[in-house]
Amino acid sequence: MSVVEARHVTKRYGEVRALDDVSLVFPEGRFFALLGPSGSGKTTLLRAVAGFVEPEAGEILLDGEDIAHTPAHRRNIGMVFQNYALFPHMSVFDNIAFGLTVRGTSRADARERVHRMLELVRLPGMEQRKPRQLSGGQQQRVALARALVTEPKVLLLDEPLGALDKRLRQEMQIELKQIQRAVGITAIFVTHDQEEALTLSDQIAIINEGKLVQVGAPNEIYENPHSVFAAGFLGDANILRGRVENGIVAVEGAGPVAARGALPPEGSPAVVAVRPEKVRLSAEASAEGVNRIAGRIFQAVFSGTSVTYIIETAVGTQRAFRQNAGERIYGVGEAVVMEWSPEHTVVVEE
Ligand code: ADP
Ligand code: MG
Repeated sequence: MSVVEARHVTKRYGEVRALDDVSLVFPEGRFFALLGPSGSGKTTLLRAVAGFVEPEAGEILLDGEDIAHTPAHRRNIGMVFQNYALFPHMSVFDNIAFGLTVRGTSRADARERVHRMLELVRLPGMEQRKPRQLSGGQQQRVALARALVTEPKVLLLDEPLGALDKRLRQEMQIELKQIQRAVGITAIFVTHDQEEALTLSDQIAIINEGKLVQVGAPNEIYENPHSVFAAGFLGDANILRGRVENGIVAVEGAGPVAARGALPPEGSPAVVAVRPEKVRLSAEASAEGVNRIAGRIFQAVFSGTSVTYIIETAVGTQRAFRQNAGERIYGVGEAVVMEWSPEHTVVVEE
């Protein structure tokens, strides 16, 4: 069993709280993404798990055991970095075999394991190449093979696809997930890219300013963000601010908005989030008394498969997303009505 757990981990650099009382369980065999903006503490948390950063408070546990005093090379954890960090003068074989050589594995055993790793990352026959003779994607596969060859309990990946162009990154995302599944390893993946987090992970933890914002399955967080930050960082959201009056949210300029779940107390401020794809757009309001805002098309962003409308309303700029199923595309300046159901209206914290 290889479960990693962080308990109340805090790390400061001078005045900066890189990690502020972070508690998280990384379940066995799962792909777990740490998602947050640049400088939010993701790398610090990963390095604390790896043993390169010593938390000043809190514990890191591996299979239930505190590993605070276990040096990095004894933690049996594999790591892949953004900048590959391959040894440039060494062949692919020697790069991958490095961890085995250090451990005194026999040459024959090493050869067999490296061979298996190269099959796994789909680079068979590349043993004698030097890193500079490989593309960026291939180098990153070698780095992955090198991290996995010692059969670590946990695989840590710090923005490993960040240096690749978009197309290659998407290919590598799918491949990385396949490899992780095939090996069945517990993986912790750092990214600032929400799409990447959604594509790859079984679980996501959103981090901001060293604090844990929300943790859950991708769809759970997406459909149920707890805060304005979570709603906006994982996906796109229309945010409406109002006050609770008679059991609904009164939004000045938009009329009453009914929401799912519990509201703050009567008379208090309330904030709700609505995903753009949950919004229906029409030229006229429907007969049902659902949540609605009237506005004007400010921009229609056509992407081929879909159109994202940016709409000017009395409560600011809002968004509506529509699959391109062949309907007419609204023109700039056209009057429209946005409507959505209370079920898709989530109360969030400011
Ligand atoms: P992320 O990986 O999310 O971009 P980091 O964990 O690298 O964020 O950094 C979190 C915060 O800690 C940032 O404000 C960063 O400047 C600071 N920090 C990280 N490492 C160091 C260090 N070695 N010395 C001083 N400050 C650091
Ligand atoms: Mg980082």
